[in-house]
Amino acid sequence: MADAAARARSRDSDAPTDDELAGAAALLEGGDPVAALEWAVARFAPHLTLACSFGPEDLVLVELIGRHRLPIEIFTLDTGLFFPETVALWREVEARYGVKVRAVRPAQDLAAQADAHGPELWRRAPDRCCHLRKVAPLEAALAGKRAWITGIRRDQTPDRATARTVERDRRPGLIKLNPLVHWSHDDVWAHLYLHDVPTNPLHQRGYPSIGCAPCTSPVAAGEDPRTGRWRGSVKTECGLHVVADPGATPGPGGGAA
Ligand code: SF4
Repeated sequence: MADAAARARSRDSDAPTDDELAGAAALLEGGDPVAALEWAVARFAPHLTLACSFGPEDLVLVELIGRHRLPIEIFTLDTGLFFPETVALWREVEARYGVKVRAVRPAQDLAAQADAHGPELWRRAPDRCCHLRKVAPLEAALAGKRAWITGIRRDQTPDRATARTVERDRRPGLIKLNPLVHWSHDDVWAHLYLHDVPTNPLHQRGYPSIGCAPCTSPVAAGEDPRTGRWRGSVKTECGLHVVADPGATPGPGGGAA
């Protein structure tokens, strides 16, 4: 707790005032995502990071960062349970755009987690598994940062309907940027096609929303895209997105982790 308090104080000392934030928000709201990214770089780099789960929105942002050579750190929450196609996309994106996507990993690898909590925790306690493999690592990834960037869009979920391009995160002293918040699903895919951005081939095989392999299944025509996540469970969110969202992996049918 002492470390968290110190980090918050450190952030607070450089945090934008309400007036500065209101001015930036008014300038950037609903505008060019590159302008939002450039403002964030000018204001927060190098204490600025993009959470990338290799979903379509995140790939738009990676493409913009790469093409405009913006000094923005990129990380992914590597649960150790990605599909092979997602891992291959990770490598392809790094090579294509000349960026490094830093792996942020859980404190325990899968073997240690199995020793501590039993095998295949995701089958018995997916919320606990998501906490260990996603939520806690996200907090570690954001430690010491002054701003983070996500690919969330307002029309993905009701919770995101009020998100703004620039806003304060629930974490003290942290700013959150959502440069694509006003984009539609079609806007995202038009950008990906226009700029020939690589995407996860699983999207073409019935996986509109892609997360960890054990918890992701294809969806049938007409099904809600999110039914492929934690199918058969009441769970619909990984826990990253209660207020702040590092970007899920919504595919052509929309949806979010
Ligand atoms: S999505 Fe599934 S496997 Fe991945 S962290 Fe959550 S419960 Fe565990």
